[in-house]
Amino acid sequence: MRLVHSKLLKKANVIIVLMIFSLLVVACSNNNIKDNKEINNQQIENKNSENKDVDTENNHENNKSNSIDNNNDKIEDKNSDNNDNSDNNDTSKSDVKQEDATAEKTPIEIDYQKVKPNELGHIMVIMYHGISNNPPYHITEEQFLEDLEYMYNNGYRPISMRDYIDNNIKVEAGFTPIVLTYDDGLSSTFSLEKIDGEFVAKKGTAIEILERFAKTHPGFDNKAALYINGDGIFEGEGTVEERINWLVDHGYDVGNHTSSHAKEHMLSKLTSREIMSHIGIVDQLIKNAVPNYTVDSLAYTFGVRPKKPLLNLVSEGEYKGITYNYKVGFREGPTGPYYPPLDNRFTPLKAPRARGSKGDPADMWGFFEYYKKNPHKKYISDGNPDRVSILEIDEKYVNKEKLGDKELYLYKLEKVQ
Ligand SMILES: [Zn+2]
Repeated sequence: MRLVHSKLLKKANVIIVLMIFSLLVVACSNNNIKDNKEINNQQIENKNSENKDVDTENNHENNKSNSIDNNNDKIEDKNSDNNDNSDNNDTSKSDVKQEDATAEKTPIEIDYQKVKPNELGHIMVIMYHGISNNPPYHITEEQFLEDLEYMYNNGYRPISMRDYIDNNIKVEAGFTPIVLTYDDGLSSTFSLEKIDGEFVAKKGTAIEILERFAKTHPGFDNKAALYINGDGIFEGEGTVEERINWLVDHGYDVGNHTSSHAKEHMLSKLTSREIMSHIGIVDQLIKNAVPNYTVDSLAYTFGVRPKKPLLNLVSEGEYKGITYNYKVGFREGPTGPYYPPLDNRFTPLKAPRARGSKGDPADMWGFFEYYKKNPHKKYISDGNPDRVSILEIDEKYVNKEKLGDKELYLYKLEKVQ
């Protein structure tokens, strides 16, 4: 009995020792897990701070690619929506945001048959003016928000004029770029106000509304181009230089709307010398405000361009000994088709814009309807800015000179069984 007891006691001791040992092991491995977690967090933090070091635009791109995995899911949703042509009001599409620090390094591969990228598809350029109740040129804040909401829910994403002209399109796979422009330098489009000693876009201006919308709609950038005349430029607080610089600093494009908006100064009525002065005055005004800034797009006042023999004075001219160069001249032409600059059917000095309003089938909302019925006509991004993905049959339309070092990728759509 005593023997048995001591044996039991020994056994119990062994068990206790084993328990203590295994507790230690568990504690140790917990620490390891914790350490690993800390290391991972550290790595993510490092990664994030690396990203922060890059300029904000790149940073934004990184954030974008972080959500690529999510986007692929979104694309599937999107395609099924396109297939049945139904209204796509699924806002969940873009509020998915995951922290995946490794995704940015993953090459962007997509299912071509599902995404159906079309990077020679139409990119609409919208012509807005001010915020007031005076359609079709001026619209209210509510109407503007309705436009933005439609764009957001139907896969349109604003891009900068710079990226449009340079064919540097960074829209996520499955989405369609759109270009927002504002003419006339109106104070309801943009003006400054000082809040806590800092200039911000004044509440209720188009730019402030756009910024507010972009903040609450992930993936939707506050990109726009603003075309100014030689006077009355975004009247309000600050100097003209401060206003133009604020816009450029915040990622907006500022373009030329010629020096005078008087009817008698329509470019079609002017001599070559007058044309060059009307373009040159605003060209120098912008360049003096923001040295080294490239101004190479112009919106014709009243949409009227110079007579044909003088049209070349838009692309190149000289005023007071200083030359200017313009790559794109926008009409107020609600005509389409909205070929992108990479398409050899794009007409750079008579590029169309759709009025940002409803009513006329050629207005923006008319085109929204058109693209809903003809989704294959619009630009669909492959998500890779370095690759231009188009259908094989469209190769003849590629302006290969403009392709630069981008890869041209041709593909065929398989027949749906
Ligand atoms: Zn105008």
